[in-house]
Amino acid sequence: MKLNSQINRVLIVGGTHGNEFTGVYLIKFFQQYPELIRRTNFETVTLLANPQAFSAVRRYINKDLNRCFRRQSLEDSTLANYEDLLAQKIDHMFGQNGENPADLILDLHSTTANMGVTIIVDNDEPFSLQLAAYLSYINPFIKVYNSGNSGRSLNSLRSLAKFSIAIEVGSVPQGVLNADFFLKTQTIIYTILDYLEQYNYHNLPAFPNTLVFYKYLETIDFPRNEHGEIQAMIHPQLQFKDYEPLNPGEPLFLTFAGQTIPYTANLTTYPVFINEAAYYEKGIAMYLTDKQQITI
Ligand SMILES: [Zn+2]
Repeated sequence: MKLNSQINRVLIVGGTHGNEFTGVYLIKFFQQYPELIRRTNFETVTLLANPQAFSAVRRYINKDLNRCFRRQSLEDSTLANYEDLLAQKIDHMFGQNGENPADLILDLHSTTANMGVTIIVDNDEPFSLQLAAYLSYINPFIKVYNSGNSGRSLNSLRSLAKFSIAIEVGSVPQGVLNADFFLKTQTIIYTILDYLEQYNYHNLPAFPNTLVFYKYLETIDFPRNEHGEIQAMIHPQLQFKDYEPLNPGEPLFLTFAGQTIPYTANLTTYPVFINEAAYYEKGIAMYLTDKQQITI
């Protein structure tokens, strides 16, 4: 008999963004060697989510697939563009009312920001937090980002599953493979699968129930003129400083004329996704986060 909390099916996804090659090539590798991701008490399946975008070496064809999974759009039969239809197809395959519902989706991403190896959780639900705590205990170099109310818990591919985790690695350019991040992502996937196997056996090892994570607070855009054109760059002192404290008065942007624009709020914050290439079009220069230590 299987318990309700049992993990029965894990879906590993790569290429949700077609130009993030780490995930794409890991999926291709696992499809060639499925025994590497096979475990004894659940099924592991893989998905190359956006094959057309991958072929075109683009993030997407018509719109960002990882923003297409709101329930409303998944049920909207009038939508006709490639990614909206693709999202509906993936929902029919792996959504909770689909043919092969996934209990956990593990989505593989890479970023041009200096995020190192980041585990993304999308809410304060204990299962994912506990898994994140385990991963950061095993690998102290791992950072945990909680996407909070940024929207990812509602519109991302991984939001289809009961539980979700994303692995985000960088800095790596779009359309580029980086062996170090490929291997680190691969190792974390095996650690997660082993953890889930022990979880299903009710045989998890002891590990600290405290977790440090960086929780989404708000989005900061570049300074722009009335035509929407960018008027300043990420300040050189802030570039690649993801997860480091940004204090009031410290440099945020540098105008093309060389003028420093400081961070003016009165709280220390921890920026992430600083200068992510894919976010220019979204009006995002970085996310600000709050560093929190919690007990699960
Ligand atoms: Zn991505």
